[in-house]
Amino acid sequence: MTERPRYSIIAPIYNEEGNIQVLYERLQEVMNSTGESWELVTVNDGSRDRSLEMLQALSKEDPRIKVVNFARNFGHQIAVTAGLDYATGEACVIIDADLQDPPEMILEMIERWKAGYEVVYAVREERHGESWFKLMTAKIFYRLIYRITDVDIPLDTGDFRLMDRKVVDALQSMREHNRFIRGMTSWIGFKQTGISYVRQARYSGETKYPLKKMVRFAMDAITGFSYFPLQIMIYVSFVLGVLAILAIPVISVLRVVLGSGFLGGQVTTIVLLLILSSFQLFFLFVMGQYVARIYDEARDRPLYIVASESGFERETLRETEPRMEAPEPEV
Ligand code: UDP
Ligand code: MG
Repeated sequence: MTERPRYSIIAPIYNEEGNIQVLYERLQEVMNSTGESWELVTVNDGSRDRSLEMLQALSKEDPRIKVVNFARNFGHQIAVTAGLDYATGEACVIIDADLQDPPEMILEMIERWKAGYEVVYAVREERHGESWFKLMTAKIFYRLIYRITDVDIPLDTGDFRLMDRKVVDALQSMREHNRFIRGMTSWIGFKQTGISYVRQARYSGETKYPLKKMVRFAMDAITGFSYFPLQIMIYVSFVLGVLAILAIPVISVLRVVLGSGFLGGQVTTIVLLLILSSFQLFFLFVMGQYVARIYDEARDRPLYIVASESGFERETLRETEPRMEAPEPEV
């Protein structure tokens, strides 16, 4: 049985054939400079390009490279979760495969870890090579999350972070299906600190986060960490109720003064009806978001399905579904 490496680097991979070689080279240089042992756990999240073959070839060449190959695309957060499930290092670092997060920053994270911090997250001071739309929505998103959630999730912070084994174990015990890992890490606690960095442009390829995935991600973040969207309904109903009560005498008086034609006719009714039903449908949608997530938890499907694994020694494989243990037999 091989020994636990000191560091595990976790990289989710979805169609990153143009980045894999450079990622490996830069990580190798950085990690070798620590003089300590390390592994790179890559998770192939249903790539349709040559990513998998490239990863498997690297893993054959270098036993420190591990590959978890998903049966299909399960999404970025789930890929990171699987990487953490398989990682055995004393400290784990999550990094994007597109080199937007410079591997050289890991050295600074390690320094902080050795100084006693259990989570070292990287704060994006500046971001290069991203569309104004992405920058604007990201800015609004992080500030909204910060305001409405009950945990202090640091602003402009992605998943690029180092976590101590204690934190990784705690994170692994949280098997929720719709995962917002940066929020979950904040929720766990322990000693956390941030270091700032300049987020680079993608080395190769396009973003794998189209608008649809971004919206879903934002919903998971909000529903996972806040009841605020459910609670605003009471304020809206209160305001509408007060308006309705005030409207009765006001409209009666105005009708006497201005004549019976005031606010009459079907158009007013139709417009009001449309406004109110759009409010109601919106709140139904909000509730639906929470209900769907309850349904996900109730079904309790596995978070991901693995098609193949490369580079692991059987006995060092961690239990991937800690909750699946068989119950003690009754006597
Ligand atoms: N990714 C993934 N599955 C997905 C989408 C993305 O594993 O469904 C990976 C992707 O390969 C990259 C990381 O997650 O390593 C971040 O994705 P991306 O760079 O596209 O996001 P952005 O930086 O544009 O927010
Ligand atoms: Mg990226």
